[in-house]
Amino acid sequence: MQNKENNKKEGTNRRKFLKLGLMSSVTALAGTSLVSNLSENAEEPKSSDEKIRLLTPDGKMVEVDAAHVNKYPEAHISSDESRKGIPNRKFVMVIDLARCKNARKCVEGCQKAHKLDYNEEFMKVQLIQDNPEASPYWLPKPCFHCDEPPCVTVCPTGATFKRTDGIVLVDNDRCIGCKFCITSCPYSARQFNWGHKDKFDDKSQPYSPETSVPAAEGTVMKCDFCPDMLRQGKLPHCASSCPMGVIYFGDKNEDIVTNGEETVRFSELIKDRGGYRHLEHLGTKPNVYYLPAVNRQFPLERGFNVDEDIIERYKDVPFVQDLKKQGKI
Ligand code: SF4
Repeated sequence: MQNKENNKKEGTNRRKFLKLGLMSSVTALAGTSLVSNLSENAEEPKSSDEKIRLLTPDGKMVEVDAAHVNKYPEAHISSDESRKGIPNRKFVMVIDLARCKNARKCVEGCQKAHKLDYNEEFMKVQLIQDNPEASPYWLPKPCFHCDEPPCVTVCPTGATFKRTDGIVLVDNDRCIGCKFCITSCPYSARQFNWGHKDKFDDKSQPYSPETSVPAAEGTVMKCDFCPDMLRQGKLPHCASSCPMGVIYFGDKNEDIVTNGEETVRFSELIKDRGGYRHLEHLGTKPNVYYLPAVNRQFPLERGFNVDEDIIERYKDVPFVQDLKKQGKI
């Protein structure tokens, strides 16, 4: 009972933290600078009780009244508009493998937001063991939003495209379902929409490539970095759903990333923690970086507290075969 109370309290504190963290990323994600994000209305806005923290372009953390901050409006973004990208942004994700314990909240948060079925995953968590002697680790894997994306090159209709802010999207209205992009992606980031089991038929919601909802049957879908969230100065669903703070997201132009709790310099994080990109030698130039799984915060075994069919996916990993032999899973 006591534990439950504590958990509840921690949860509330974290949400509060998260909110502050997210708002501090307004500069990084949505606006051009702190100054341009402050309201310039002739009519002075009423002050509120809510204070938020913002990072200035010269790296100082300041606290301002929430009522004085401009946010992007939540508006429907047309297919043409969605091809342009958010001005002056270059989005980047950093995944801290030392913190991942396969909680799968990133997967679930993404599925809920994109109305996906249980087996449809834009974010996949793999178990990697480079050789039988090496220590295995959990690897969350979204689309890498490559700067040299083979998927875009092979698309015959321009349905998939690269924007100025770095995001690679799919326009369902143009996709003919040829699957060239699926076969060309070296990271298996794409999947074919064979038709959702739990149909989402809300026709009142106009389609936009920025949300991929409702998704059209017979087309290709994938992780989109949640541009609709970014326009509101919020984190992508995977990052805001992760209770471990594994996923940092931000803007390369401003050299800032946040996981909702910590806001840090992207370049320093990568340099200090030995950040790397998956299969760098392929030349696809991903915009997702990984921090190696050294000094792990959780025992790897905690990640096996998942459904049987998910454990089945890891059956070829030597570590899992050993655990099975020992009767531990
Ligand atoms: Fe395209 Fe695959 Fe790169 Fe995503 S990870 S941009 S789908 S090549």
